Amino acid sequence: MIVMKEGATRDQVDAVVERVESVGAAAHVSQGEVLTVVGAIGDRERIANLDLAGAPGVDRVVPISKPYKLASKQFKHGASTIVEVDGCKVGGTNFAMIAGPCTVESREQLLSTADAVKAGGASMLRGGAYKPRTSPYSFQGLGDEGLRLLREAKEMTGLPIVTELMDARDLEPVLEVADVIQVGARNMQNYSLLAEIGRSGRPVLLKRGLAAQVEELLMASEYVLKEGNDQVMLCERGIRTFETATRFTLDIMAIPVIKELSHLPVVVDPSHAAGRRDLVLPLSLAAAAAGADGIIVEVHHDPDAAICDGPQAVPADRFGDYVEQVRRVSELVGKEISRPEFA
Ligand code: PEP
Ligand code: MN
Repeated sequence: MIVMKEGATRDQVDAVVERVESVGAAAHVSQGEVLTVVGAIGDRERIANLDLAGAPGVDRVVPISKPYKLASKQFKHGASTIVEVDGCKVGGTNFAMIAGPCTVESREQLLSTADAVKAGGASMLRGGAYKPRTSPYSFQGLGDEGLRLLREAKEMTGLPIVTELMDARDLEPVLEVADVIQVGARNMQNYSLLAEIGRSGRPVLLKRGLAAQVEELLMASEYVLKEGNDQVMLCERGIRTFETATRFTLDIMAIPVIKELSHLPVVVDPSHAAGRRDLVLPLSLAAAAAGADGIIVEVHHDPDAAICDGPQAVPADRFGDYVEQVRRVSELVGKEISRPEFA
């Protein structure tokens, strides 16, 4: 990591980038409010031999010891990355409330849920068109028709859309609708998919794998960042433990732990962790209190009729109260719920 001096010129930064690239390394420039940092990724020795510490405009050269580089806290000098989607911010003092059905099931289901989450204070609308189901015999999502309905919901509400991409072959149609591409837990280590999404430049919600360590999650994010896309949110959604009382165990500690290691925002999914709607509120409050930058929660206008994940869905008519309670806790830790420009 090459830290430029305060007031270093554009030419000086460009010269550093050129020298880094001259030894076959990649240069990632991060322009902070005060400081510019050039991340050099390549052969450590060849980069060291450039002796960039003495180059014009360079303040110092700091080796990053962690295996993840661009995701590391050091890379941004302690500053937080703020992901911005249609004026809705995630990270820093901004808290995002992403809500909607697990799966797009029908026009009526999606539009009525979308209306309710907008009225209740959501920042973005979630909904899967392509679903990673444990059983190949379960409903796999509406696919293209689901994307079309999501577009309609976006036009109707103005809420940005978060939807999952499972297969790189669907990237193009998903890019037409998704303001944020969700990478599901089961695809966290699908590295070619991550690189493809990185190249698209679209904001990403990267879910932690069911049995992935924090470091593995950060390494996965590195695949997106490496392609020049720093609009990445990391999502804790519960992990496998020996405990069987709940579907997964929400790793609340992962929030402060990731924040200590990385500048990327952390979003929590209480729905999939718990698998039960009565646990969604307490887990959400705990997540907000622990410093999460947002929540992604499943909401359904008629949970009993849901095709997928009904037992964990917050009923749409209770969503406003739920948001209000989470808002109070997020305020206590100095965060404000950020909503898109219409709000
Ligand atoms: C989802 O968000 O609907 C989902 C399938 O989540 P996960 O990938 O975390 O299981
Ligand atoms: Mn779900």
